[in-house]
Amino acid sequence: MNRVIPIMPAAGGAPGAAAASPARAPVPPSGALTDAFGRTLRDLRISVTDHCNFRCTYCMPKEVFGKDYVFLPHGQLLSFEEIARLASVFAAHGVRKFRLTGGEPLLRRNIERLIEMLARIPGVELTLTTNGSALAGHARALKMAGLRRVTVSLDSLDDETFRAMNDVDFPVARVLEGIEAAADAGLSPVKINMVVKRSLNRASILPMARRFHGTGHILRYIEFMDVGQTNGWRMDEVVPSREVVRLVDAQMPLEPVDANYPGEVAERWRYRDGGGEIGVISSVTQAFCRSCTRARISPEGKLYTCLFANHGTDFRALLRSGSSDEEISALLRQVWSARDDRYSELRTQATANLPKVEMSFIGG
Ligand code: SAM
Ligand code: SF4
Ligand code: SF4
Repeated sequence: MNRVIPIMPAAGGAPGAAAASPARAPVPPSGALTDAFGRTLRDLRISVTDHCNFRCTYCMPKEVFGKDYVFLPHGQLLSFEEIARLASVFAAHGVRKFRLTGGEPLLRRNIERLIEMLARIPGVELTLTTNGSALAGHARALKMAGLRRVTVSLDSLDDETFRAMNDVDFPVARVLEGIEAAADAGLSPVKINMVVKRSLNRASILPMARRFHGTGHILRYIEFMDVGQTNGWRMDEVVPSREVVRLVDAQMPLEPVDANYPGEVAERWRYRDGGGEIGVISSVTQAFCRSCTRARISPEGKLYTCLFANHGTDFRALLRSGSSDEEISALLRQVWSARDDRYSELRTQATANLPKVEMSFIGG
């Protein structure tokens, strides 16, 4: 069972209120919003579709997301214009990074047009997370549209393991082509996300490290999480990041690296031989709620303040009823200032069964 780490009250804070530890709390930019624990709004993940061409067993198991599953009809999705307008309001409140996600974001038709619109918002870094299946054909256009970097998910180099994990028999080679096309197009450094599930791909940890050592790509190992309600999560399937680091370090010695910025999700390690770096994302064994600055917008325009939330706040209604930017801002301020999420700090095997939004709906 996971240890519960309470968030400590801030010195001088309101009675009953709590705040992030001063050592880790990001410095709010002027006009920025802070939540009930003093955490700044800094990142926005925008899920542009709930569709995906993969059925990764830890995310969209076929038993649930089979042929009878009802996806959102197109008219319920935010239009590109609506997304861009919402994104500008978030940027005005201190957001400095947008990440497009899904479902599979490259399945959203003309995604490059949305990227062009978001790239015009000043002072915001623009990235995208993809399963890589269609990346080879899109990489150049994405770069030209203004995308800065890309993260590609790849769980194994072993074809049989990868085909079983994506559960649609998709080959590793095509994702590797996508990664190379992204690097060639200048969407670098390319980050590679590997979800590690003990019974499925623990044996792929070292081959993945060897494959990407010295390439300039940054491999990140992610602990298998209890997102949604459908992936049959069990604690004994989680491979703790410290075990991953121990395994890699024994073969290819590592040393820790400082975070790029306060609140960075991945803990960084670099190869002592100069072969680049890896990251570990320990959402289960070392919760990082104290520095969580991320908001998430679902494809139909709901704002979720935590990956494990069970409800979101509807912004589409405002966007479609002629509300002003100030009215949208007011709702955002209200939601963020009341935010007190810290699911990962409270996680137990029992909380895994609570109702939560699906990962394929709001992205990672
Ligand atoms: N379809 C895209 C992809 O796979 O990159 C973007 C959306 S996907 C939901 C975003 C990230 O969430 C991926 O890197 C994926 O591996 C990760 N993910 C999905 N389910 C997860 C789980 N149960 N635990 C940890 N990471 C998960
Ligand atoms: Fe699709 Fe990404 Fe989920 Fe896999 S992790 S099923 S690629 S949304
Ligand atoms: Fe942020 Fe929620 Fe994850 Fe904690 S559990 S780090 S609050 S998204």
